[in-house]
Formats: sequence, C-alpha cells, structure tokens
Amino acid sequence: MAESMGLDRLSEFAAIRAAAEKIAGESERLAALCIEIQQIPAPTGAEEKRADWVQARFRQLGLADIDQDAALNVYARIPGRQPTPALLVSAHTDTVFPAATDLTVRVDPESRRIAGPSIGDNSAGLAGLMALAEVLAGLEQPPVDIWLVANSNEEGLGDLKGIRAAVDRLEDSLGAVLVLEGMGLGRIVHAGLGVRRYRIHASAPGGHSWGDFGSASAIHSLAALVTDITRLNVPQQPRTSYNIGKFKGGTSVNTIAQHASLELDLRSVAPETLAQLVEQVQHLVQRHQRHHTKAQSGVAFSVETIGDRPAGQIPESHPLMQAASAVLAQLGIPEQMDVRISSTDANIPLSRGIPSVCIGLTEGGDAHRLSEWIDPRPLAKGIQQLLYLTWWTAAWLTTGG
Ligand SMILES: [Zn+2]
Repeated sequence: MAESMGLDRLSEFAAIRAAAEKIAGESERLAALCIEIQQIPAPTGAEEKRADWVQARFRQLGLADIDQDAALNVYARIPGRQPTPALLVSAHTDTVFPAATDLTVRVDPESRRIAGPSIGDNSAGLAGLMALAEVLAGLEQPPVDIWLVANSNEEGLGDLKGIRAAVDRLEDSLGAVLVLEGMGLGRIVHAGLGVRRYRIHASAPGGHSWGDFGSASAIHSLAALVTDITRLNVPQQPRTSYNIGKFKGGTSVNTIAQHASLELDLRSVAPETLAQLVEQVQHLVQRHQRHHTKAQSGVAFSVETIGDRPAGQIPESHPLMQAASAVLAQLGIPEQMDVRISSTDANIPLSRGIPSVCIGLTEGGDAHRLSEWIDPRPLAKGIQQLLYLTWWTAAWLTTGG
C-alpha cells in the first residue's frame, strides 16, 4: 500500500495492519455501535447527550486532553512522536431530527440493512471515529499528534459552528483534517461547496380580509418576490443552485398577513458565481422594496444571513487526495467519482488552506429521512480505509506535507 502512495512507509503500516485485519471480523460489533449511538437523540444545537456519551467513552480508553467546549465539541488527543503538524479526525454528532423523533430501528433480516433516523448521517460516521479511537489507544505512538473530535452543529442552521470552533482552537497546530461521514463509502470530497443562506422577512399593514381588502399583504408581497427569485437563470457549469426550503407567515385565513418569511439556500461550486447569485437576489429584494416604497404600501423587507459555508478545495493531484484514492483501490472499494464536491465540515479547513478530505464509511441511503438506512456489512472495510488513511496522513505530515 505504501508504495502505491509513493511513500516508503511500510514499517508504519505494519503497525496498523494487524488492527485493520482484526476490524474485518467485527461487523456485528460495529453495527451494534452504530445503533447504540443512533439511539441517543442529538438534534443540531442540542447534542449534549451524544457529546457526553463520546466523552465517557474517550475516558474509558484513557485518551489524553479530553475536553468538551462551549459548542459541545468533544476533544481527545493521541500523543504522537512529534506534536505538530497535527492531524484532526472529526465526525459530527448532530442529526436533522427533532428531539421527539421516534428512533426505533428496524433490521431487515434478509438484506441485513439497518434503518432508523440518523443511522448513517452520522451515527455510522461517529462509530468510525470511536473505532479509530479504540485502535489508536492500543497502538504504538503515531508519527504526529492525532486529535479526535466529535463535533456539533454540522447540519442545516448549525452552519458548521462545531467544526469552526474546533479548527479555531487547534488551527496553529493543524497540518491536515479528515472528516467522516457514515454513508457514501467510496466518496472522497476534496472541494467544499460554497453555501449562503438567508431568511427574508416581509412585514405589511395587513388587516381584515374583507374589511381591509386592498391593504398590502406580507404573504402576497413575499410570494411576488419568490416568483422573481425562481425565474433567475443560474449556470449548469459551474454547477449552481437555489432553493426556497421554507415559507411561512400569516395569522388566519380571513386575515391579510402582517408577517411572512422564507428561507433561501444558494449554492455554487465557484465562489464568484455564488457571489453573483447573492447579488442578483439582493437586487431583486431592493427592486421589490423600491416598488412598495413608491406605492406607499407599507411593505418592508429585511434580509438576515443565516448560513455561510465558505468554499475551498485541494486539487485532485494533492497527495492527500491521491492517498485517499490509493487506499480505496488497495481495499477494492470502487471510488465514486461523481461526488467530489459537497458542503461538509471539510469546508472550514479547506477554506483556511488546511488540506482536508471528507470520506464515507459504509453504504446507505435516504439520508435525512425517517427511513434512513445503512448496510452494515461494508462498514468494516470503510473503517479499514479510515485506519490506513489516518496512519498515512500522520506519516505524511512528518515529511513536511
Ligand atoms: Zn452528515
């Protein structure tokens, strides 16, 4: 494996090979670990229980520098033969499911698939981080310090707050970051998709639907703006998108609405195209506002930024990307070339010039749906991938990578 990655590090890999081979026989235990994690509710911004569970487990393993920060990130350090540049391996703890969600798991006796909310995103990813922690706790010192972080606030309006705090804290010592996602085995994300999110609010005089007919409505005004946003032409190359995922407002069916709001998500692979799209939307809001001001309708729009995920990438020729590909090839895992650009926790290190990839650990589907599922059988292989890539990256960092 080392040769195929252009590094003479066979002795380093010998250290981890036995552990990787042992993992191959532990599918049942790994599946149970995914379910154990999945059973702990962890909505974005309320990850306390899952964070505490991780912290207790890090303690059992006797890891160094265990800590939980104000963002509910949990940290542990595996001391290396040299402290820096350190490697950070992270998996997010939060899920898109509200606290009251029924977390009952169903196991299909035939396909062995495990279904349940957040089982793949990101219980399986976090299970991978825990399996890595167990292996590293029992091995010789790695080439450099390895920080393990179970981070909060990856999903939705969490806006990558957890990984931002972790990278802020460790930035001076970091040489590379590996981000773990439970699903998408074979994917290597090396480019962070830029995302901007806005809440646009409209207020209007409103009134009684009959008695005040003619008075301006916040819903009608905001809907007119929506129509213009959905008429925007965005390029397919570089891939760019918009979505209004939420629209709400009003008081009752017979009331002219005084308030309405929407949530808008704008994305592009290219930072310049994203900036242009943001500008187009701002112009539309201004145009609609001018129209209402002129007509003295009493309608006022306001725009609030609720998400900003910066773009960033390493080239496909980057040694970390090459190593991640080589590890997949060596393990016989087909590489999924179609999803190399995505919005993940890796956006943050990538946007700050720290080499980073996000890798998947097993096969699964229906992410963010109640029917979310994983196939636990490829998980052992996914974790082998993680072990090799972690060790390779730690060794690479000593070469000045
Ligand atoms: Zn995820």
